[in-house]
Amino acid sequence: MTTTPTKKGSAAVQARRVLVLNSGSSSVKYQLLDMNDRSRLAIGLVERIGETTSRLLHTPLTGGDAETRERTGRIADHAAALKAAAEELAADGLGLDSPELAAIGHRVVHGGLRFTEPTVVTDEVLKEIERLVPVAPLHNPANITGIRTAQAMRPDLPQVAVFDTAFHTTMPEYAARYAIDVETADAHRIRRYGFHGTSHAYVSRKAAELLGRAPEEVNVIVLHLGNGASASAVAGGRCVETSMGLTPLEGLVMGTRSGDIDPAVTFHLKRVAGMSTDEIDVLLNNKSGLVGLCGDNDMREIRRRIDEGDERAALAFDIYVHRLKKYIGAYSAVLGRVDAVVFTAGVGENSAPVREAAIAGLEELGLVVDAGLNVVRSGEPRLISPNYARVAVAVVPTDEELEIADQTFALVGRAESDGQEMPVGQVDN
Ligand code: AMP
Repeated sequence: MTTTPTKKGSAAVQARRVLVLNSGSSSVKYQLLDMNDRSRLAIGLVERIGETTSRLLHTPLTGGDAETRERTGRIADHAAALKAAAEELAADGLGLDSPELAAIGHRVVHGGLRFTEPTVVTDEVLKEIERLVPVAPLHNPANITGIRTAQAMRPDLPQVAVFDTAFHTTMPEYAARYAIDVETADAHRIRRYGFHGTSHAYVSRKAAELLGRAPEEVNVIVLHLGNGASASAVAGGRCVETSMGLTPLEGLVMGTRSGDIDPAVTFHLKRVAGMSTDEIDVLLNNKSGLVGLCGDNDMREIRRRIDEGDERAALAFDIYVHRLKKYIGAYSAVLGRVDAVVFTAGVGENSAPVREAAIAGLEELGLVVDAGLNVVRSGEPRLISPNYARVAVAVVPTDEELEIADQTFALVGRAESDGQEMPVGQVDN
């Protein structure tokens, strides 16, 4: 593969669509956005890639009724997945060969310390993302496959990598470093990187907007509570602390991950329980958290069981909320002054009981939830604290795809207005 700066930026000035790709190990999520008004033209998902039960769900959003089309049957690999998605888009008159497509934005999970900003993918950038595979073995290989597949399909277009870790690179060294031997840590790039950065960036900015203030003026604690969950402390628009670490395992209790534990638990499992490293990895990443505690990781199901008097579900909920409270308290101390605590992602946006329980008893920190506002269902950013509260409590729906599209389009646009040539990848093979 070679990279050649062939595409004169000005040729793409009229192109105002961005395709966002989120490539997982066996799935690809995609969204096509029109950056004139930042609206979605189509969204889709290819899942179970490589299995006989592959499935593509595609929803065009240009017409009146959004009707999802489904394709089933084996989709062999990521290239076939993207080809199938491209066919669905073409059927709606949104083909990826369109000159209106300005760039393809890729979610890349691990950008290490090097990538602090969205970055146009070159050969050298791809090599660096590959070099980070040891610290993101589950995610970066899939992201690389997604980029290569998209490059093969549109070698003339800029491919932009937007990193989950980028927003957290502003963390001070004393927050990012583990208290372990410095030489060992540096030799193996062991430090706290943080993840979900695209969401934390988007939500913290939106929260400032909701408060009617500039991001530079506000300090917020963002609680991204999805199946994966992380907290961040954002001071004046810059991340100063986050709960995930070298990997997404550290921090809050999650759907299937333990979050914080004594690291000696792993030695114990090896020495006393006779488990292998891989078995411990699976235990802590896939069989712990809410699912390990009560067998369910869907907060709706957990609440239903609690309502029926299920004690295991109730304990799982209490452990989940207790950890959240600890982080809210810790990050209040880290920030000194907090303007807002913001809930986002699947649980954060939808579970009023989690929000209520996490904030309960924190009046001394200026935190109160208004019971009536908390149960209002809405897809809009909203306050759930009463007017008199010293610190705002808010719900802000996250939108990682929009943030990736915005960052991608801004980068391509900046290069164009500077009259720069955009590097575009060309595939040799
Ligand atoms: P995410 O990873 O952001 O898509 O979040 C997925 C998680 O959100 C699910 O596992 C559920 O626990 C939770 N969730 C989604 N919808 C609801 C809801 N209406 N009420 C409570 N929890 C929900």
